[in-house]
Amino acid sequence: MLCSSQQKLSEGLSIISFLVKTDFQNSRRNITLGNRATRRTINPRSVSRETRSESRFWDSSRPLYRDRFRIQTRSYQLRSPIDPSGKFFVSLNLKTRRESIKILPLSESAVGIDVGVSTYITTSEGTKIENPRVLDKHLKKLARLQRKISRQTQVAKKTKTPLDQAKNYQKTKIRIARLHEKIRNIRRDHIHKSSWGLVKSYQTICFEDLGIEDMLKNPSLARSVSDASWGELIRQIEYKSDWYGREFVKVGRHFPSTQICSGCGSKQGPKTIGVRSWDCSCGASHDRDMNAARNILIEGLRVKSNRV
Ligand SMILES: [Zn+2]
Repeated sequence: MLCSSQQKLSEGLSIISFLVKTDFQNSRRNITLGNRATRRTINPRSVSRETRSESRFWDSSRPLYRDRFRIQTRSYQLRSPIDPSGKFFVSLNLKTRRESIKILPLSESAVGIDVGVSTYITTSEGTKIENPRVLDKHLKKLARLQRKISRQTQVAKKTKTPLDQAKNYQKTKIRIARLHEKIRNIRRDHIHKSSWGLVKSYQTICFEDLGIEDMLKNPSLARSVSDASWGELIRQIEYKSDWYGREFVKVGRHFPSTQICSGCGSKQGPKTIGVRSWDCSCGASHDRDMNAARNILIEGLRVKSNRV
């Protein structure tokens, strides 16, 4: 839950503690806050939008986390008291029942996934999801704010103002933090939607082990790799597969997915990154990413059959 000021934070905490006490049963009832002198009554539904950023949190007909968990307990704690963007976060510790998640019906469908910088995800069936390139889209604005804050740091130095009292510096600092937060949120939203889309549609999901740490060491790749957050995508697909009874198969890092013809299986040698499509001597013509995804699927199914 998000609270935007100290006052709202304490309000939020009181509401949470009330809701925890009543096991979220009576959140439609008014809540009395404060001590004898400052007592006032709040209707949980009238709390400002900012305080209740998780709107379903308050709606007792639709319990927390869209019915995914039964709320059993009980304690709450304050995490990261002040976010750089000036917001507060309150996190709840809840006991959850994993088995209450509905496992999706079994199906035969399997998919291979190729990830890339230009096309974010290509499936073996040819579906493509574009890379949102969130950081690229906000880079200009970010750079402008960073230049501004470095100027303001200089000014503060000259006038010997401590930075925590330099008002304009502080304003810019919050704007930078909010922009980072926005980038983070767009990225996270995109990854949640993509990973859920795959887990929902396929029983077996084959992925290439990307070796992200090595990619991050390459300075020309590092920014786009970290912006794409493939590691987070894989993490989400992995745990969602586990939740919903799907199977996640990782294909070895050195499997030459781009070099093999998915039609005849012959190895055709390395392809530079510029080669987007190619023809095999067997007559098949390939889209680079889709061919790689098909090979990942074939290899993934082989790995899977060896497991059993
Ligand atoms: Zn071929």
